[in-house]
Amino acid sequence: MNVYDSARMAELLAPLGYDATQRPEEADLVILNTCHIREKAAEKVYSDLGRLKPVKSERGALIAVAGCVAQAEGEEILRRAPYVDMVFGPQSYHRLPEMIARVLRGAGRVIETDFPAVPKFDSLPAGVGASEVSAFLTVQEGCDKFCAFCVVPYTRGAEYSRDVAAIEAEARSLVARGAAEITLLGQNVNAYHGRDEGGAVIGLGALLERLARIEGLARLRYMTSHPRDMDEALIAAHAGEPKLMPFLHLPVQSGSDRLLEAMNRGHCADDYRRLVDRLRRARPDLALSSDFIVGFPGETAADFEATMTLVRDTGFASAYSFKFSPRPGTPAASLDSPVPEAVKDERLQILQAELRVQQDRFNRAAIGQVLPVLFEKPGRHLGQVVGRTPYLQAVHVDAPASWIGTIADVAIVGMKTNSLTGAPADERKRIPA
Ligand code: SAH
Ligand code: SF4
Repeated sequence: MNVYDSARMAELLAPLGYDATQRPEEADLVILNTCHIREKAAEKVYSDLGRLKPVKSERGALIAVAGCVAQAEGEEILRRAPYVDMVFGPQSYHRLPEMIARVLRGAGRVIETDFPAVPKFDSLPAGVGASEVSAFLTVQEGCDKFCAFCVVPYTRGAEYSRDVAAIEAEARSLVARGAAEITLLGQNVNAYHGRDEGGAVIGLGALLERLARIEGLARLRYMTSHPRDMDEALIAAHAGEPKLMPFLHLPVQSGSDRLLEAMNRGHCADDYRRLVDRLRRARPDLALSSDFIVGFPGETAADFEATMTLVRDTGFASAYSFKFSPRPGTPAASLDSPVPEAVKDERLQILQAELRVQQDRFNRAAIGQVLPVLFEKPGRHLGQVVGRTPYLQAVHVDAPASWIGTIADVAIVGMKTNSLTGAPADERKRIPA
């Protein structure tokens, strides 16, 4: 979502004459769009700011901190890095032009961390410039679930769903500008419940069905989902909508009922297993990915073993796993019985080794198959393009750059650590996406 927000900021700044650069030393304005989800991400902001100090003193560039660290630690940032000009949270970035004007006028440093009454989406400009082949589109933001470990409800604020018409207009604009695939984004994207033109409230399943009708849009995905919000209509979309890709990121966090309860996740391990069964009945080739936290306070060896059992029972195509990181202001930060760092490390290693085996197994199973690949960008080597299978696996193929933006059948011939290699199966079947 930060990638999406950054792209919208760039669009917002274009009419003011700003153009994106990857090099801070040549910038007139540097924006750090930050993440507060774990301590490591948050601490990185301060080391990055230290490195940016010369950009400020030598070039007089404006320095801004955006995103969830800004939201959570606004005053602290200004105290620790007095050369920062602007601090604003994820719900305020539509005000960027007026914030810049205020700073340039010499009206002092800006801090904007209130949740505005009017949603920012109403005041963001329509997209300009070329789109990525695979584009993001935020449809839902914020979270009301308050998992015990998580800062999102405090930094991104309450759950909010955009109207269907605004989403469809943005999707059409992305497709007109070159997108062939759209990933709908939300902190709890499957809690989506937006209004259509007639004022009726629709869920994510119906929204996907609507967007699937857009001509020129070949693929749809969505992320991130909560197990509790996987409703019948959404599962049915996986069965019946061919543009909806057979890959689902469905975080479970733990396989221990005791910990799931302490985490306030609102479901048990067997609820997750039953849900996966229903999804696989709807779409037998569905590839699953998940998030896991090890070392939540009070996690015993038996709790951890329950997580390992769930992982082995389910089988994941990929996954993210993290050591519990106590976040200020969350209920879990003040729980007793912290798990020692060494135990966290050991458990993380064991879990990641099993997830690695599962990922390799999943990728190896693709070798020998012919899969439709949507090509997104040039590869690292000259004469190579990179695309993705329906299951989100990256595939490197020797082919000209003109293949970018098209879908071709690819024979999968090999695998590397995190990607596949393939050869064009039948060039006559290559289609513009
Ligand atoms: N809304 C999604 C997840 C959003 S946060 C969901 O409900 O599943 C992304 C991931 O970061 C989470 O799934 C969790 O695994 C991890 N995470 C969040 N807070 C964390 C914390 N305090 N310590 C470690 N990992 C955390
Ligand atoms: Fe955080 Fe996701 Fe839980 Fe919301 S549902 S509190 S975003 S982990």
